Amino acid sequence: MSATLIDGKPISAAVKAKVAAEAARLARDHGLVPGLAVVLVGEDPASTVYVRNKGKATIEAGLRSFEHKLPEHTSEAELLALIARLNADPTVHGILVQLPVPAHIDSQAVIQAISPDKDVDGLHPMNSGRLASGLAALVPCTPLGCLHMLKTVRPQLAGLEAVVVGRSNLVGKPVAQLLLAENCTVTIAHSRTRDLPAVCRRADILVAAVGRPEMLRGDWVKPGAIVIDVGINRVPAGEGKTRLIGDVAFAEAAEIASAITPVPGGVGLMTVACLLANTLKAASMQAGLPAPQ
Ligand code: NDP
Repeated sequence: MSATLIDGKPISAAVKAKVAAEAARLARDHGLVPGLAVVLVGEDPASTVYVRNKGKATIEAGLRSFEHKLPEHTSEAELLALIARLNADPTVHGILVQLPVPAHIDSQAVIQAISPDKDVDGLHPMNSGRLASGLAALVPCTPLGCLHMLKTVRPQLAGLEAVVVGRSNLVGKPVAQLLLAENCTVTIAHSRTRDLPAVCRRADILVAAVGRPEMLRGDWVKPGAIVIDVGINRVPAGEGKTRLIGDVAFAEAAEIASAITPVPGGVGLMTVACLLANTLKAASMQAGLPAPQ
């Protein structure tokens, strides 16, 4: 492999350490302990693990963690009532409802019920609109993590061609907005894009957020490009076991790119770190204090 590995471990550890230091300063100087409420409806195994990890990381950073585990049959009205209580609770500065919610609950209604000031997932239309308008916003955590990783290898992104494959509200669109704000020339590709390999080959920065194992091949990568692989795909690994792989054929792409994120151990580690940073930012803003940089 000739590319530099953009290793999520030290980068996410540094973000968490910075949050912990800033949280200690807030507690000391302002008596403020940022609080994050995470709501889980049902018992989806992957979601349960994510929620547990978020709670653990929150406490380790010196923030307050509130976990609300609701049964699968919880009604939309009951969930919205809990969100209303959390919106009004001054000890809660960030609210995250673990998605997906069960099918009988309208996820848009849930997203829009969260106060935009406490929307640490950055999914409320107020926050996506503010991001698109170039205003201060709470930005989704995974895209923030992508940008942070990119900047460890290339601090100045202005003028670069960026191709983002995927256009979800959670990843693709906000990644594209962040890159646009960094003055990249941004293309958003998706399932209807014609000749996707050729589009990808234009990219100085290639972000894959598709959810298809190793779909992006080595010969889709422009020599010297920086590749950020957001995909997390669980695939069979023989003997009844499974393993995680990304949306990029890592071994092939690592021969062509100048830098690349691994899966696992890449973007996935940044998401929780950026969630803590968003909670700190939300708490600071709600207290009328400047948002930490
Ligand atoms: P979505 O399923 O919401 O979006 C996938 C996007 O990929 C869509 O825009 C879709 O296009 C596009 N797409 C699908 N197939 C193709 C194709 N053949 N060619 C081109 N584009 C295609 O997924 P998410 O954005 O939520 O997640 C993407 C990946 O990132 C997943 O693997 C997910 O697990 C992972 N993820 C990782 C996180 C982390 O912490 N690292 C956090 C969140 C997600 P269209 O819109 O046209 O259908």
